[in-house]
Amino acid sequence: MAIEQKTVPENFRVIIVGGGPVGLTTALALSKAGIDFVLLERRDNVLNPSIGAGVALWPHGIRFMSQLGLHDRLAPLGVAQRQITTQTLQGHMYGVHKTFAITEKKHGACLTMFHRAHIIEAIHSGFSAKEVRSQILTNKKLKSIDTTDTGVVVTCHDGSVYKGSIVIGADGVHSKTRQLMRSMALEHKSREVNPEKPFSVEYRLLWGTVPRTPALNLDKNNFYETHGKDASMQAISSNDFTYLFVYERIPPGGAKTKAVPYTDEEADAMAARWQHMAVGDITLGELYAQRSVAGLVDLDEGVVPHWSWGGRVVLVGDSCHKVTPNRGIGFNIGLGDVAVLVSEIHGVIANSMGGSPSSDDLQEAFVRYQAKRAKSVKTIAGICWDAIRQMSWKTTMDWLMDRYILAWIPGYDNILAYYLANLLRKEPVLDCVESEEYYTGTLPWANAFPVPRSGNLKGSLSDSE
Ligand SMILES: Cc1cc2nc3c(=O)[nH]c(=O)nc-3n(C[C@H](O)[C@H](O)[C@H](O)COP(=O)(O)OP(=O)(O)OC[C@H]3O[C@@H](n4cnc5c(N)ncnc54)[C@H](O)[C@@H]3O)c2cc1C
Repeated sequence: MAIEQKTVPENFRVIIVGGGPVGLTTALALSKAGIDFVLLERRDNVLNPSIGAGVALWPHGIRFMSQLGLHDRLAPLGVAQRQITTQTLQGHMYGVHKTFAITEKKHGACLTMFHRAHIIEAIHSGFSAKEVRSQILTNKKLKSIDTTDTGVVVTCHDGSVYKGSIVIGADGVHSKTRQLMRSMALEHKSREVNPEKPFSVEYRLLWGTVPRTPALNLDKNNFYETHGKDASMQAISSNDFTYLFVYERIPPGGAKTKAVPYTDEEADAMAARWQHMAVGDITLGELYAQRSVAGLVDLDEGVVPHWSWGGRVVLVGDSCHKVTPNRGIGFNIGLGDVAVLVSEIHGVIANSMGGSPSSDDLQEAFVRYQAKRAKSVKTIAGICWDAIRQMSWKTTMDWLMDRYILAWIPGYDNILAYYLANLLRKEPVLDCVESEEYYTGTLPWANAFPVPRSGNLKGSLSDSE
């Protein structure tokens, strides 16, 4: 259900800043909706992820990918995580949870682990050759944005200039787009000015990727968690790799700045600090010694108050909300942003009947977009932030809840699965892209896909251009 060609204003073009997972998905969703775009990425290749770890897709995330036509490509690559086991730092196992297996019955899809590069490649495979050649541009670092009554002019550090109708900032946690929006709001003496530093940091994360071998064969359908005072760990597998995530509470004043990131030596030192931490029958030290790649990052937390400016600039993904990765859902939240924002833009264009939508119409759409996302983003973010503190026993109550009380609650897995499934079933999809439904379970999705009318899916773009 793309926009009829005659109603698309010839010059309506979206400029996406950032070619990370959310930026690429935004581009693909716009393409499926029949809306012109150009994507500007500062790195020299969108296929090399900046983090070499795994990515979990939740049931609604997998479903959204299927709406973008990626079901057949992604389905064989993921590994369902049906069970969570929890143990202490010393290896005493005190929890076995079937929450994900229960939600799988409800949605027809499980929490599924992928190699990050495979997800990026899958999204990239959805573009036509022409789009890859001329609309996904690398070595393009955003420098400035000028807005006019009818559009935007974007300038990159290499001096190149791009004209479009709106800018979507998908440029991550240190978003330059967000900084420029703030300057514009200050310049116009607006009351909608974001804080200069909208996120806070309390934990750091050592991540690593370990090739799976017969000697290192943690059960790939089991989500291993290790909980303890001030530190916790997760080990999760895809088909070929086990991904380790070690979380550590940062002592006051110990957080890094964007300009001075952690070194490899600091990553190794953190691994050494927690080398005896148990994971299954082995230790972090044994796992880390087999890594192919690893890194240390601070974990920003927060939701930006204002996601758009003047009907011409709008944010998606990590640029406007940052959750800790312990629930594997940051990218999945970004997918919900893409679904709502692209549907809203599609609606505004369709209503403009061939004319260019005004800044006021676009700003109203952006305000609706944020209003539709805000509640769910804050709820899911809160789950992540509470969980990282509980896993790392921040308070005595966190320790008591995690170590003893939750295990004693009869039917706890069912209660949690019920809560999560009812939250996730409401996550949005595109209202303007037809798709068949691949995932159904005992709990119906709140938002149905537009059903193909002719059997000729808009999603099946020709690659022959
Ligand atoms: C170790 C780890 C594991 C994670 N695991 C999961 C998981 O299992 N499931 C999940 O859902 N989420 C997970 N997350 C979170 C997820 O990675 C993020 O939510 C997701 O990457 C956000 O995507 P994004 O495109 O918004 O931002 P980013 O991934 O940060 O991408 C931003 C892009 O913008 C580009 N850019 C930045 N500035 C400019 C500029 N000035 N001009 C042009 N381009 C620019 C960057 O180069 C980058 O390509 C994890 C995060 C980490 C750190």
